[in-house]
Amino acid sequence: MEHEVVIIGGGAAGLSAALVLTRARRSVLVVDGAEPRNKPAAHMHNYLSRDGLSPLDLLKHGRAEVEGYGGEIVNDTVHGVTKTHDGFAVELTDRVVTAKRLLFATGLVDEVPDFLRARWGRDVFSCPYCHGYEVRDQKLVVFGEEMKVALVRQWSDDVTHVPSVDGIEVDDDRLVAVISGSRRVPADALVYSAPVKPRDEFLLALGAETAETPVGSFVRTDDKGRTSVPGVYAAGNVTDPAAIVIVAAAQGAQAAGMINMDLVTAGT
Ligand SMILES: Cc1cc2nc3c(=O)[nH]c(=O)nc-3n(C[C@H](O)[C@H](O)[C@H](O)COP(=O)(O)OP(=O)(O)OC[C@H]3O[C@@H](n4cnc5c(N)ncnc54)[C@H](O)[C@@H]3O)c2cc1C
Repeated sequence: MEHEVVIIGGGAAGLSAALVLTRARRSVLVVDGAEPRNKPAAHMHNYLSRDGLSPLDLLKHGRAEVEGYGGEIVNDTVHGVTKTHDGFAVELTDRVVTAKRLLFATGLVDEVPDFLRARWGRDVFSCPYCHGYEVRDQKLVVFGEEMKVALVRQWSDDVTHVPSVDGIEVDDDRLVAVISGSRRVPADALVYSAPVKPRDEFLLALGAETAETPVGSFVRTDDKGRTSVPGVYAAGNVTDPAAIVIVAAAQGAQAAGMINMDLVTAGT
């Protein structure tokens, strides 16, 4: 077996797990497509001691820490995963690697319509905890469930709910209005609850069980990151759509501890 653990996904969850496992002297390969969910945002918030850091800088520092303990990180995409008699085979672009245990930290995709994509993570966003403070007291338009309006009022009294978003107006690289049907609603920012899709196809192919959440079906884990498939773990947004960066990192660390104990129990 080439690696004790292969981690698929090198965002906050995957790198955090890799840090714990490499410090526990496990041989770890992280395979990362380098497309973290918050890549469009210039700043990351709510990560204690790193508030305002660029999301990509967090991962750059994380990679350096993992590599400093001997962890291997490759920029590549996993194309398939299969169970073998004593572990797992992971198909990369031009080779297959093997591992005793797998951690999926592949995150999720926000299904943002093309006409909003250029502004996503700037003045169009879904998470008011991540972006709300920066647009406090401004004109905010909310698309999504009515409940979200009450939440967004935490940041501004000027909140308008719209039943659809059919277009936007941008002036001087700033959002100025949202078009909803025949209405033009002046706006400094749009809170847009985009549908989310976990990157879980290989987990499902391995037989991992799912559970319903308010935003769809996600692979179910216990509080240590164990899926229903022995030897297969998951952490971060692939299993928990609500996990902000610090939570995803914590879930990765938690899963890593469990993976290590699992290997110890198995006598390796
Ligand atoms: C615009 C925006 C701004 C945000 N701002 C904040 C913020 O300020 N603060 C905050 O706490 N949270 C913020 N979030 C939430 C934050 O993005 C998530 O909490 C965080 O990214 C979850 O980390 P993760 O490791 O689970 O997944 P990700 O960070 O998405 O990392 C998953 C990684 O897995 C890789 N991957 C996926 N599939 C494969 C594959 N088959 N092979 C190889 N690699 C693969 C991806 O390329 C990616 O690098 C924001 C979200 C958005 C959309």
